Parts: sequence; C-alpha cells; structure tokens
Amino acid sequence: MSKFNFPSIKETNDLSNLRKEVRNFITKSLNHKDFEPSADAWVFSASPEFSKKLGSMGWLGMSFPKKYGGNERTALERYVVTEELLASGAPVAAHWIADRQSGSQILRYGNEEQKKSIIPKITAGECFFAIGMSEPDSGSDLASVKTKATKIENGWKLEGRKIWSTGAHIANYMIVLVRTSPASENNRHEGLSQFLVDLSLPNVSVKGIPDMTGQRHFNETLFDNVILSEDALLGVEGKGWSQVVGELALERSGPERFLSHFTLFESFINEFKNILIKSGSKLIGKLIAELQTLRRMSFSIASMLQNGESPETQAAFVKELGNKFEKTMVETLREFSNIIPLYEWPSQLQNLFEDATLRIPSNSLRGGTTEIMKGIIARQLGLR
Ligand SMILES: Cc1cc2nc3c(=O)[nH]c(=O)nc-3n(C[C@H](O)[C@H](O)[C@H](O)COP(=O)(O)OP(=O)(O)OC[C@H]3O[C@@H](n4cnc5c(N)ncnc54)[C@H](O)[C@@H]3O)c2cc1C
Repeated sequence: MSKFNFPSIKETNDLSNLRKEVRNFITKSLNHKDFEPSADAWVFSASPEFSKKLGSMGWLGMSFPKKYGGNERTALERYVVTEELLASGAPVAAHWIADRQSGSQILRYGNEEQKKSIIPKITAGECFFAIGMSEPDSGSDLASVKTKATKIENGWKLEGRKIWSTGAHIANYMIVLVRTSPASENNRHEGLSQFLVDLSLPNVSVKGIPDMTGQRHFNETLFDNVILSEDALLGVEGKGWSQVVGELALERSGPERFLSHFTLFESFINEFKNILIKSGSKLIGKLIAELQTLRRMSFSIASMLQNGESPETQAAFVKELGNKFEKTMVETLREFSNIIPLYEWPSQLQNLFEDATLRIPSNSLRGGTTEIMKGIIARQLGLR
C-alpha cells in the first residue's frame, strides 16, 4: 500500500515568496496586455515570446543543472511557478511539454552532446517539444506501436506515423517511441526505443487535426523513411518502455490536470460572489475543498520527483481525480446558469465557459484514458 502514500508537504516561506514574485509578474503582464487569460492554456495558448520571457526570468527548466542553462531549483519551486501560470490562464503551451517532461527525459537518458545542444535552448524558451507516443492504432496499448527505426550505416531509418501530438506544428523536436526490434514472446515491452527527432528533417510532415472546437492544436506526423543520425537515439536501444513509463509520471501528475480551467472558476466566483453567498456556497465550497486536496496531492508528488522517485501510481490518481474535478466544476457552473442565465455572464466569462464545455471531454483521453488510470490503480490494489 506504500504507493498510495502522499506525504504532506508544507509550503515554506521561500516558496510563498516565489509565488508572490510570479503573481507580480503575471499582474504586470496582464496590465501590459501581454496576454489574454484563456481556458486550457497549456494546450491551446502558445506564445513563443511569452515563453522566451519566462526563460529570461529563469522559470523554464528551473531544476535543470546550471551547466546546461538551468537554475538547479527544486521541483517544488517549479510546482509553484507552474501553478501560478496555469491559474492565470497564461500562454504557456509552446514550451509546456519541453519544460515538463522532454527536458528531464534528455537529462536523464541523453548523451552529453544532446544535453549540451538542446537543454540550454529549452531553458531559454527557444526550443519546443512534442510527444510522439500515440499512433492511429496504438493509444492505450502503447507497446503495440508500429512506427519503426531500422539500423543503417551511420544511423537509423524511421518509418511510421504518430497521431494526436499536441503542439507538433510549432515544436522543434519530438521524442518518438518506436520499435527497433520485435518484442520477445514473453515480454512485449522489449525492443522499444526512444528517438529524439528533429521535426525539420526531410521526409517529416506534420498535419494539423481540428478538434471539437475547430482549433488545431494536435497533429498527425508522418515519418516517410526519415534518415536519423546515430545520436538521435535517446537512451538505450530496446529500453524505451521503461524510459517512457518514467516520463508518464511527469506527464500525469502536475497541476495542469486540475487547473486547466481555473481561470473560469475564479472569474465565475468573483463575478457572482454576492449571489453565490446566498445560494450556492455549499457547492462552490465542495469544489474548493476538492481542488485543495488535489493541490496537496500534486505538490506531494513534486516532492517525490525531487527525491528521485518515479511515482506513476500516484500520478494516475492525480490525473483521474483532476479530470473528474474539472468535469464536475464545469457541470456545476452549468447548473448555476439556471439561476444566473448565461446571457447575464460577462462575455469573457461566457467564452471561457464555452471553451471549457467543448474541451473537457478530451480530458478523459489525453495523457491516458480514465479506464487506463483506473487499471493502474487497481493493479496497485492487487485487484488485477
Ligand atoms: C487533447 C488530446 C491531446 C493528446 N496529446 C497527445 C500527445 O501530445 N502525444 C501523444 O502521443 N498522444 C496524445 N494524445 C492521445 C492520447 O494519449 C490517446 O488518445 C489515449 O492514450 C487513448 O488512446 P486511443 O485514442 O488510441 O484510444 P484507445 O486506446 O483505442 O481506447 C478507446 C477506448 O477503449 C478503452 N480501453 C482501451 N484499452 C483498454 C483496456 N485495456 N481496459 C479498459 N479500457 C480500455 C479506452 O479507455 C477508451 O475509452 C492526445 C489525446 C487528446 C484527446
């Protein structure tokens, strides 16, 4: 049962001061109209200029080693910065994946050349990443990927197709999970490898796919016999499965899993607090309590990551409960439209609400589906 332990971590004065610093920065940015708060900003709202600004503040790759341009700050400090940025709906999508997982993956498994050439650009907010896991016929069952890399003289030949890759249209690189050799009879996780693929290489084509909102944030990427150099291999050939599993803990455990629509929640409360105090404080209070619990769980995971642990099961909890929280929050606000008709909501609030309504359904898919998260938790409980 130890995997269900979420040690309680207190926010120190230093962390609270950092939080204030980020809030001041955001207030200034909003006053300068540097950005308009948006829903699901870590997926939909990309601003390379804003990313660069965060890089210059030292808020990207915060925990990365100084020798690669990082600041050697803690995962808890990174947590505080990302939480504030998410809560304000700031345009963080361009660098999000590089800062959250790809940079750490390169630091953990990459060779010196990969680290030296890429990490400083990530910390400067000048190099963006996409995740190349899912394929048209492989999503939940990731071990069944068919994209393959074949050894050739001085390198590799990459053939196949990845799908749903968020931000691939603005990314410089994609970390691609591929087969480099057939799975063995009793272990289908063998023979997978990760590659660091420069998306500007010949024979790589990235095509946007519109989602329900009509926006294009994810993509299909075709690798049509792309020639990769030898050092495009990330980590150890054949060990891609264990590498990718560790990456998923970074992907699923952060505050973006429950703060994607916080700007809607906060604006709604601020706008209608006088009405909510009379009728609705119980429902809103319940949501705030759930949110607070999720924050503590995610903060606790950040401290586990800081200690070098790989908390995949705890991450599945945050991902699943965060998804449920966001869905319930939007449904609760919809219920309130019975007493506060939508046409009385300020237009910015209406827009946030409409975006959230259309985007929430994808929460139960992105980053791993509800059934897969529950399966991970059930395995830990010894139920499967
Ligand atoms: C907004 C968004 C962004 C995304 N971004 C990325 C990205 O950047 N990079 C990337 O690689 N992928 C990305 N994805 C893809 C996402 O990871 C997959 O959609 C997800 O893993 C599910 O895979 P699938 O769509 O192939 O569905 P399937 O795996 O075919 O699943 C279909 C249904 O069957 C259920 N199911 C499947 N297997 C089991 C099982 N063993 N037990 C019980 N139920 C099961 C699933 O829960 C689901 O309900 C994104 C998806 C979305 C919606």
